[in-house]
Amino acid sequence: MKSLETFAEKKLTTLTNKGLKREIIVTERLDKAMIVRNGRPLISFCCNDYLNFSHHPKIKQAAIDAINQFGSGAGASRLITGDHPLIRTLEQRLAKIKNTDDACVFSSGYMANIGIIPTFIGKHDVIFLDELCHACLIAGSELSGGHKIFFRHNDMDHLQDLIHKERHHYNNALILTDGVFSMDGDLAPLDQLSVIAKNNDCWLMSDDAHGLGVIGDGKGSRHMFDPLPDIPLQMGTLSKAVGSFGGYLCASHAVIALIKTRARSLIYTTALPPASVAAALAALDIIETEHVYCKRPLENAKYFASLLDLPLPQSPIIPIIIGDTSQTMIYAKALENDGFLITGIRPPTVAEGTARLRFTFTALHRKEDIQALSKAIKKHGILP
Ligand SMILES: *Cc1c(COP(=O)(O)O)cnc(C)c1O
Repeated sequence: MKSLETFAEKKLTTLTNKGLKREIIVTERLDKAMIVRNGRPLISFCCNDYLNFSHHPKIKQAAIDAINQFGSGAGASRLITGDHPLIRTLEQRLAKIKNTDDACVFSSGYMANIGIIPTFIGKHDVIFLDELCHACLIAGSELSGGHKIFFRHNDMDHLQDLIHKERHHYNNALILTDGVFSMDGDLAPLDQLSVIAKNNDCWLMSDDAHGLGVIGDGKGSRHMFDPLPDIPLQMGTLSKAVGSFGGYLCASHAVIALIKTRARSLIYTTALPPASVAAALAALDIIETEHVYCKRPLENAKYFASLLDLPLPQSPIIPIIIGDTSQTMIYAKALENDGFLITGIRPPTVAEGTARLRFTFTALHRKEDIQALSKAIKKHGILP
């Protein structure tokens, strides 16, 4: 019999030879987009903490106060005794921001997606997914047992073609898309998607992990369109611009009631700790009132793009596609030596041959840091 260790070692050798072995590096995150790695301070251009809220004094204080009042952990799943009062307040706040009847908070965005999709989709149903959908939308689709069909990224003609060929073979149908694509930073055409969904008896679900807080006056990607597109399932995370932890779904009363009855990743896991919920609430207070501050990540991304003659970004995420995986890692190392942390993103996170440097901009990046970064990029000949 093969030992577990032999299996693991063999598999790791294969992955290492392909340049795909991953290392998790201890990183201390400080205020103002600074981090410390191997004892060395670096300016990070790869955190999702777009508004630098994880170190905001008011938000940290809200978390501390919540621990003092409610304790450090939730104690049980929400359906047992973990549904502390802050969670209800947070759900009402999210529903108000997203303009839906109701909301449900999950323990993370990943948990939200693997719980939501199987609640509505089963083996006689079909799911149309943008090929660049986040991994947890794909995981949720697989768990549902529904038939998965991928359409070319943001290609509405291809989606319509597939719907015309395939939709009638199935009972219910769901279209899945990111609102802002996490590895490319572009937006989904939610206006067109909502029309296609309506005309073809499909439900539409958007994952707005990278939208809330930073685009559409802080309300997310749906608010980039006028009139507001109809999206019956609006999912997102509290762990990016909100600077805390947790996931959510905003939807109608009936949808949320069914989620709370059936979503397994809600029912069979412990509720969020009070501190995370209180931090999210404090962050949403700022997102709802300080619109100028919330625009800064995108403005910084636009400034960076202007320095390097890159296309104008639609979100604070800018990829520079290198293609070759090992070259990508060499560039990332060179930038790290200059004091900038940029993670190389490689397959299978992105498609084979599209390894990239992915830059994310935050509110507190300084103009001079962005200038220095673009100089370093030119110096290393990273752009074509
Ligand atoms: C980060 C991310 C998630 C997962 O959210 P977590 O709260 O970190 O689990 C889901 N979807 C997209 C598009 C993401 O970028």
